[in-house]
Amino acid sequence: MRGENAGFEGSVGNLPGIRFSGLLKTGAPHRAVFFDRDGTLMEEVHYCNDPALVRVFGGAADCLRELRAAGFLNIIVTNQSGIASGKISLAQYHAVQDEVSRQLCGLVDAVYFCADSPAAPTIRRKPGAGMIHEAVRDLGIDPAQSWMVGDKDIDIACGRAAGCRTILVRTGYGSEHAASKPDHIANSIVEAAAIILRG
Ligand SMILES: [Mg+2]
Repeated sequence: MRGENAGFEGSVGNLPGIRFSGLLKTGAPHRAVFFDRDGTLMEEVHYCNDPALVRVFGGAADCLRELRAAGFLNIIVTNQSGIASGKISLAQYHAVQDEVSRQLCGLVDAVYFCADSPAAPTIRRKPGAGMIHEAVRDLGIDPAQSWMVGDKDIDIACGRAAGCRTILVRTGYGSEHAASKPDHIANSIVEAAAIILRG
């Protein structure tokens, strides 16, 4: 059950919002790349609440373009406990995410965020796989054909629990988080995309 701290927003092609899920569920299961956001697609900013601080990594938009061309949906799954703790207002979260999506040239197909505090009893917050489970259900995704990319052990644990292949990027906190034994380790989002595109 999604509570008030559950978040979803997205579009595929020119179809805005959540209503596209029925359309996407037609045909073969989709494959996706699930991305952590902070430290993976953009430079880590502790509790980022200002769109002026958003710096997407160089080459990230091109990665998403190539992945989409290869048939992947690009989906962000992000913990945002700063919302629960009051460090980030919901409006600030949306302003930051809008800027991330803008810098990624509109190539993000959907965003799932979890505003819960680490103490909340939730499987949405990573390392729980709840946000991926929601996307799988909403968008008709086959997790076995999908990937999770992130800079923390919790991202790898989340992807593994959902049945995805996993890549740890060494950006953000990645150099401190290799204990989770990801399927691959990449120096950047660009390297991670190359691994995925090689299959
Ligand atoms: Mg991160």
